[in-house]
Amino acid sequence: MIFLDAAATTPVRREVLEAMWPYLSGDFGNPSSHHSLGGSAATALAEARAGVAKVLNCRTGEVTFTSGGTEADNLAVKGIALARRAADPSLDRVVISAVEHPAVEESARYLARIHGFGVDVVPVDGDGLVTVDALREVLGPRTALVSIMYANNEVGTVQPVAELAAAAHGYGVPFHTDAVQAAGWLPLDVKVLGVDALSLSGHKLGAPKGSGVLFAKGRLRLEPLVHGGGQERGRRSGTENVAGAVALSTALVISHGEQEAMARRVSGLRDLFISAVQESVPDAVLTGHPVERLPSVASFCFPGTSGESVLLELERLGVICSSGSACAAGSDAPSPVLLALGIPPETAQTAIRFSFTQAITDVELRQAAAAVETAVGRVRNLAQRG
Ligand code: PLP
Repeated sequence: MIFLDAAATTPVRREVLEAMWPYLSGDFGNPSSHHSLGGSAATALAEARAGVAKVLNCRTGEVTFTSGGTEADNLAVKGIALARRAADPSLDRVVISAVEHPAVEESARYLARIHGFGVDVVPVDGDGLVTVDALREVLGPRTALVSIMYANNEVGTVQPVAELAAAAHGYGVPFHTDAVQAAGWLPLDVKVLGVDALSLSGHKLGAPKGSGVLFAKGRLRLEPLVHGGGQERGRRSGTENVAGAVALSTALVISHGEQEAMARRVSGLRDLFISAVQESVPDAVLTGHPVERLPSVASFCFPGTSGESVLLELERLGVICSSGSACAAGSDAPSPVLLALGIPPETAQTAIRFSFTQAITDVELRQAAAAVETAVGRVRNLAQRG
């Protein structure tokens, strides 16, 4: 099997399993307990936080562990917008891009539905990019927060986050970015990016599902969403997932160390794969930005096919990939992300996303490109006969 669905999830790395194991077994303490078992869990949690803070170049008090990327996005969008409006009732609008993950988009929709916020959606261009000019058009004195993702999970387009954050700051507005797909592939220094908040998810990095992080700048007020014992400096109550935090931190530190070399190697392989697919299926349409894209994502539409049929054929040929985001898998509706790029619905329904782990090889990608040619050919033949 050739696994080309790493944007959906990744296997847990051995080093990560080894690092987290003690906190699931012998050192199983609750970090809030005052005995030695609790102390050892609290130390592990503090070390995990320090590891994340080092990679993000922030203070440890700015790192909140969450149950995943979705919760980190919810906490950022709702928590910042609600806290800002509580301090100044005129701040009653949030800005998101047209290609956000549902974790951000639905958080903004919730703010509109339940709390009466206005939602301004910044359009993207045909490559999926948000321009500074487009952002400036929707920013205003009532904007409480801007949330624009670092890298898109369906087409891999990478946004000019530092420029967009600077534009938001020009209006005195804090900037959150969903860096769930960027982590491991792109630099994550929050000072260089100039962001006020940033979300991460462990399972895209070789840690287990159900671990995440929200970086939120020290002075940024954040209304908690989960109330209780006041863990995570009151930002996220609930007994901490110590093993999950250790796992995420270990995976983040390892992938950060390898990031530059991996990005160089895998983007080279990605480009060879894109050329091979375009050569064997000349009418394949590459979606997303041709250059400003994640090293790990190659996404296409294959006009005249059905994405789901091509996926099934690919799986028969031993290639595992997806028709878009895992969250939307199984839905017949064309992807809102592809529609936002201006791709017609009938073409959007033929989308396939290939996404790679760090371990991807040249040989696997050559085999996968050959499988794509066979799968698309078979589906087109069947459609002609049918
Ligand atoms: N944001 C993006 C861009 C994602 O791709 C995902 C997961 O696919 C999430 C958020 C949600 O993260 P999690 O699965 O950890 O809840």
